[in-house]
Amino acid sequence: MLIKPLNRWSDDPARMAVLFLTFTLLFSTCVEDTNINDHPVPYAALEKQIRAENDWRAVFTWDQYTELITVLSDKKFLVLPLNEMRSTFDSSLVVVGLRHDIDIHPFKALEMSDIEKLFNLRATYFVLATAEYYGTVANCEIIRRPEMDYVYKELYNKGAEIGIHNDLLTLMISYNINPKIFTLEEINHYATLGIPVYGSAAHGSQIARDLNVSNFEMFSDFATRDSVTYNSIKYPVGKYSLKDCGLEYEAYHIRYDQYYSESGGKWNDPAGFTGILEKLKSSKPGDRIEILTHPCWWGKKAS
Ligand SMILES: [Zn+2]
Repeated sequence: MLIKPLNRWSDDPARMAVLFLTFTLLFSTCVEDTNINDHPVPYAALEKQIRAENDWRAVFTWDQYTELITVLSDKKFLVLPLNEMRSTFDSSLVVVGLRHDIDIHPFKALEMSDIEKLFNLRATYFVLATAEYYGTVANCEIIRRPEMDYVYKELYNKGAEIGIHNDLLTLMISYNINPKIFTLEEINHYATLGIPVYGSAAHGSQIARDLNVSNFEMFSDFATRDSVTYNSIKYPVGKYSLKDCGLEYEAYHIRYDQYYSESGGKWNDPAGFTGILEKLKSSKPGDRIEILTHPCWWGKKAS
């Protein structure tokens, strides 16, 4: 189709609209830049809702997180996102893979990444597609909340790696979603945002607990059975490999010697948080450590 060239800006309604918008933005920036609340982030409403529902769960303070990151800033440590940690071997350093399973609270994840950014440390954030913030399921398909794309991009732009917090058992059993198609679509969605995805981390969902099967068994690389039965219906397990699903690693199956986590809001050390800090301080070059934290347990307000 031939389009007649236009000679003047005023002849083109689209150009005029752009011009109007530009002036409006310039004007509003000039007069309103003193009040940040006049320009809420695209996810402001969702953040308010998720915070109202979940902020109370925190059991550790941001000061404590800063303490952890301060310990990890010692020159004996090399702290990396998991995709880099898994292929980094250095006997002169303690190599740490810093992992965060976002679970229910992506906005605490943003706060956590702010602290890491201050210390120039990078981590991997695993996003959970079955969480409330992520979207809704209709006709066996996930409809993603577009405002969350800003959160993923914000994390990525701060230097974080984004991964998939694998809840494939729930997606398959509760929503009739094909694990391979879903994972490839997830990777494709992040690719459209300019975010590469390399790995997944198994989520401890209720269905996984009921079945006593880890979500990583959905991949043939780690499966110890070929099916599970839930409510008298048989479902396939381990049908596809990580590679079939476009992934390169699984967070529980990379090489590390020690694993520290505050799953359930409780560190896996008899002395709790203090015990973990002591273990890190006494770690030796050549050690390989994976540290898992969940942003939802952090940001407790001082009482
Ligand atoms: Zn999880």
